[in-house]
Amino acid sequence: MRKVLAFDLGGTKFAFGVVAEDGTVLGSGRVETLAEKGAAQAVARVAAAAHQLLADLKLRPSDLCAIGIASPGPLDTVRGCVDGSPNLPGWTGYPIEGELSKSFGGLPARIDNDCNAAALGEYLFGAGKGKKNVVYITISTGIGGGAVIDGRLMRGANGNAAELGHIPLTMDGPRCGCGNHGCWEAYASGTAIARRTREALAAGRASSITGFAGSIEQVTTHHLFQALTQKDPLAVEIWDQSIDYLGRGLGAVINTFNPDVIVVGGGVTAAGDALFVPMRAKANGYAFPRLAAVCSIVPAALGGNVGVVGAAACAFEAAV
Ligand SMILES: [Zn+2]
Repeated sequence: MRKVLAFDLGGTKFAFGVVAEDGTVLGSGRVETLAEKGAAQAVARVAAAAHQLLADLKLRPSDLCAIGIASPGPLDTVRGCVDGSPNLPGWTGYPIEGELSKSFGGLPARIDNDCNAAALGEYLFGAGKGKKNVVYITISTGIGGGAVIDGRLMRGANGNAAELGHIPLTMDGPRCGCGNHGCWEAYASGTAIARRTREALAAGRASSITGFAGSIEQVTTHHLFQALTQKDPLAVEIWDQSIDYLGRGLGAVINTFNPDVIVVGGGVTAAGDALFVPMRAKANGYAFPRLAAVCSIVPAALGGNVGVVGAAACAFEAAV
């Protein structure tokens, strides 16, 4: 069975693994990115650790068919590098694709946006397996997206397609990390839900949420969920608003892509049915009925492996 080497680059950790063609992770590891020390040093460290993993697995680079790299965007896929990612300052222009290829005997390497890679991973090996049109959404610090349509990952003109978290929901909403106002993720990411909760508490609303957190400043979505299970009125109100924002964005996604399935991952999905049941109903309400009727909305299946497995999915594509 063919195997690839996969890298999942993040602002704090740089994970890697050897993945077989059926999606099985044969071995994996991680190093700290230490992004501020620069790309060259981080790539050298992760390459050394990956060489050790290959030695442990009794594999040589020539036993592999390609290298996949999942990275936060934006990317320059022509030069094979990060291009202005806020979490990787100073990495712009460093030829990570070429350098990792060189480290492993010239294996073909491909860098892809991490959410696009995750979409291909869930399509090939996860909750989208067997479907032709799969959109992946992650609801965590931000909201990210990726789309596989008619069996092909949508990369777009320069590799940055499906920045779905930056669909503007309003004209003049809260400021988003991208610099615009009113983006979907500025309302409905885990970070945004926690921020809206803290704002309501700071405005003087009574709630058990502060008690769970210790102080208003420490409130996260975890404390909101705790209060939600006790039917705290403010928690219920903020959660219902959040579900509405999520449903609006997903409705737009359904109308845009006409997917068979939307696979949803990220920390906020820990809420389980309390999220998925009302979110499906809202999304369907905001989408055209004919499109909503064929689209299921399901939890992601790859969990913590999604970065490495997604990068591997891209590598298998690059190897064909
Ligand atoms: Zn934005």
